[in-house]
Amino acid sequence: MSACEPLRFPTDLDGWLAAATEYADDAIARVASLDAQLTAGVAEATAALELWNDADLALRSAANQAYVLSEAHPDAAVREAAEASVERLDALSSSRLLDERLFAALAAHEGAELDGGLDAEQRRLLDHTLRDFRRGGVDLPAEDRERVRQLADRDTQLSLAFSRNIRDGRREVRVAPEDLAGLPQDFLDAHPAGDDGLVLLTTDYTDLMPVREYASVRATRTALVSAYNDLAWPENDAILAELLAVRAERATLLGYGDWADYETETRMIGSGSAVRAFLDRLDDASRDAAEAEYPLLLERLRRDEPDAEEVTIADFFYLLSQVRGERHDVDAQRVRSYFSFDRVLPGVLATAERLLDIRFDAVETATWHPDVRTYDVRRGDERIGRIHLDLHPREGKFSHAACFGLAPGLRGRVLPEAALLCNFARGLMTHDEVVTFFHEFGHLVHDILGGDQRFARFSGVATEWDFVEAPSQLLEDWAWDAEVLATFTAGPEGEPIPADLVERMRVADGFGRALEVRRQLGHANVSYHLHVDRPADLQEATEHWYSVTSPVRPLRGTHSYAGFGHLTGYGACYYTYQWSLVIARDLRSAFGDDVMNEAVAARYRRDILEPGGSRDAADLVAAFLGRPYAFDAYRDWLGGH
Ligand SMILES: [Zn+2]
Repeated sequence: MSACEPLRFPTDLDGWLAAATEYADDAIARVASLDAQLTAGVAEATAALELWNDADLALRSAANQAYVLSEAHPDAAVREAAEASVERLDALSSSRLLDERLFAALAAHEGAELDGGLDAEQRRLLDHTLRDFRRGGVDLPAEDRERVRQLADRDTQLSLAFSRNIRDGRREVRVAPEDLAGLPQDFLDAHPAGDDGLVLLTTDYTDLMPVREYASVRATRTALVSAYNDLAWPENDAILAELLAVRAERATLLGYGDWADYETETRMIGSGSAVRAFLDRLDDASRDAAEAEYPLLLERLRRDEPDAEEVTIADFFYLLSQVRGERHDVDAQRVRSYFSFDRVLPGVLATAERLLDIRFDAVETATWHPDVRTYDVRRGDERIGRIHLDLHPREGKFSHAACFGLAPGLRGRVLPEAALLCNFARGLMTHDEVVTFFHEFGHLVHDILGGDQRFARFSGVATEWDFVEAPSQLLEDWAWDAEVLATFTAGPEGEPIPADLVERMRVADGFGRALEVRRQLGHANVSYHLHVDRPADLQEATEHWYSVTSPVRPLRGTHSYAGFGHLTGYGACYYTYQWSLVIARDLRSAFGDDVMNEAVAARYRRDILEPGGSRDAADLVAAFLGRPYAFDAYRDWLGGH
């Protein structure tokens, strides 16, 4: 058997139940044996790093697989067992970084000259790993070290509980059939009234998104968005409060000013104060444009509701869509008629194939659910990875859209594998969904193409976290290109979406962009300030930050922080979306008018995607652009260009 075989999954429920636990058992046993060799003393730095890498690989692979199962397996018992495995593996990762003997075994090789020299990649692995140890608390006095360990474990437990409550916390509202005015016919057909004469709407994206965008009855939008903004509340209230306390205490014990300082040390941005400066810069860059856009939304709202005093977040997407449509002759439903899922899926695959010189070959293989489509990723005769697309909603499944690593690629040893968990409609898709598909696919190809690495630590999307969205945000632009869209769209007569309609969509999309950036800035402010200011009243603080950031009002009295899933993973660092976007816009500028330019695409693949995390992102970007990245392209884009 070749060293680079793809993962094999169980074929029945008993197999899955066993696997959900065994992934962790096997990895934990393997890590124990490798760590024993390492701490017994290894004379050569190179050999020590290889042992470390093998353990790292075992942990990352097992954690990835368990994590995907915990979010995607259709059986609740498997999800629970997998979640327990994630907890055990995370606990082991944290406790290894507190293990003085492991630290000493690696730190012994810190003086490179004495080792007969490490090459640049080995040096990087050693430096990054020792930094991880110091950030894990290994340097601390025994008592503090033990406390940091408890806090890290508690963070994992609380974060999992927070996500679980969101995932399982679906809310429902019931409305009269006439209150669904504005929604497309296929949505109405799929939502008949029940015995009580009312129509059931849920906070799942497949209901929420169309209602937010199309429902012309304000009360319907407000009811469903309110329910969505109270997702996982009150359950997540105490969980979040404790999570913020746990993080603050951990940062302090480790010698950082606050949790933002701790998190940003390993990011491009570098410090918590730089986050504040960046948020101020965004505030400046978007304020005037947002204030010019807002009155147009309010005016449009008053045509439906003459007494309306303000635009709320429940009105925002509907009004944006209305104003864009009316001012720029873009009818969202007409646009949607061109995007049937059955055409979009092969279209996204074919676009990535052309752009990145790869091929996707469908593979028949058992996975966790029959909905999952599996493809080998090939270049020429060589299989370079495998992807799993799990694209439609089902009960108990992860309810957003994201890319999940499954196997971290390792040159000659492990075939990179990753999965998309999304919740797309099975029939016609909104253009937003198509953009999301391209976005997530940007992560997916980054994970696969960046998976030809020497060390698991740098495989795939393992780059600085505030750079990780740049490749995905960049690929969104392909969903706005008329020539790209013409290759896979079809209207009622089979004709592709007309180029002039796409051009109007692009112009229309420019409207509201500053308000959208301010909405994102609101999320970034909430994420940063909840972690750094540690407010006693989460509801009040959240409402405050949304209110002062955007003229579009939050729904007062709701508790959107309880369902703000990114607070666990992104912590204080939701700014990363906009930081990445600044860079993505700059990367985009290199393609000029031709997003399929072969020469630029080849450089992009080589300079940005393939290195994974093996070099600093700022260096990758400078290599591709031929200069350091700048703010100019982002500012142009913000101005609607
Ligand atoms: Zn993303």
